[in-house]
Amino acid sequence: MPELPEVETVRAGLQALLPGKIIAAESHDWPKSFPNSNADVAAFLIGSKIVQVRRRAKVLLIDLSSNYTLVTHLKMTGQLVFVSKTVEDSKLPNSNSHIPYSNDEVRFGAGHPNDSLIGQLPDKSTRVTLTFKDNSQLFFNDQRKFGWMKVYPTPEVPNIDFMVKVGPEPLEEAFTPQILFDRLQRRKNTSIKAALLDQTVLAGVGNIYADESLWGAKIHPATLVKHITAEQVALLHKELQFVLNLAIEQGGSSNHTYVNAEGKKGSYMHFARVFRREGQACPRCGAIIEKSKVAGRGTHTCPACQNQR
Ligand SMILES: [Zn+2]
Repeated sequence: MPELPEVETVRAGLQALLPGKIIAAESHDWPKSFPNSNADVAAFLIGSKIVQVRRRAKVLLIDLSSNYTLVTHLKMTGQLVFVSKTVEDSKLPNSNSHIPYSNDEVRFGAGHPNDSLIGQLPDKSTRVTLTFKDNSQLFFNDQRKFGWMKVYPTPEVPNIDFMVKVGPEPLEEAFTPQILFDRLQRRKNTSIKAALLDQTVLAGVGNIYADESLWGAKIHPATLVKHITAEQVALLHKELQFVLNLAIEQGGSSNHTYVNAEGKKGSYMHFARVFRREGQACPRCGAIIEKSKVAGRGTHTCPACQNQR
C-alpha cells in the first residue's frame, strides 16, 4: 500500500508533465478499474485539458478543464506511467524529479515496481490508457485490479465519503501539534500505532512512517493513546513531518514497492532507522532492534529507546 510520500512522488512527477495536455482518447480493459459510462467519458473526459494534479491523503486528483476530476487510487499494485515520444512538448522537470530522458522519449512512472514501469506499454497489467492530443500517453497499470480511476464533478470531490472522513494532511501548515493531540483523542483506548494508521485520525501514514516516527519520538507503538502526554505528541508531530518530508525528498520509500521509471529506487529505506532493521543496532543507542506485532502489523522498535508503555 502506498503511503503519503509515494503518492506525493507520483503527483509531483505528473504535475510536471500533464498540465495543458488535452485528452484525445481513453481505453480500458476492466470496468472496475474505470467505472465510468461511455457518455461521461465523451462528455467530460475527451477534449478536456488537464489543469493540475493534486493529492489528498493517498488519493490522486487529476483536475480537468471540464470541471471534472479523475480521482485515482493506486491501492496495492497500481502504478502510473507517462510516456511521450517528443521531448519538446514536455516541461523540463526540476533536478529533483525522476524523469529520465532517452533519445526521444520522456518517461515518468511511479507505483508498484515491476517491469511495466520500464517496458513497452500497454501490457497485460494496463487497465486504463489515456492518449493525449500530442500522442503522449498515460497508462494506469494495476496487476491485482484493486485500484481505480473515476470521474467526479470537481466541486463534489470534497463530498466523496472518503474525503469527508479522512483526517488532516500531516504536512500542511495548519496541522499543529495540538491538532494531532486532538485527533488522537478519537482513539484514546487504542495503541498509538493503531491510531496513526487510522486514516480518519490522520491522512496518509502507513506502517513504515508510523514505525519511523514513533522511534524518533521514543514512544513504544503499543502505548495506549490515553497514556501519551502532550509533550510526547509534540515530539511525534515533529518526527512525523521529518520522516515524511525526508521520504518525499528521496522519492518515496524503496520498500520493494516503489521505483521510478529509471528503475532507480527511492532511497528513503536507506535512511530508515528501525523499519525492517530487526537484528541490527539502533542508530541512537546500539541496542538490537526487535520486530513484533502491534495493531496487527509487523512493528519495529528499539527495546531501549522505546521501553515505556
Ligand atoms: Zn535505541
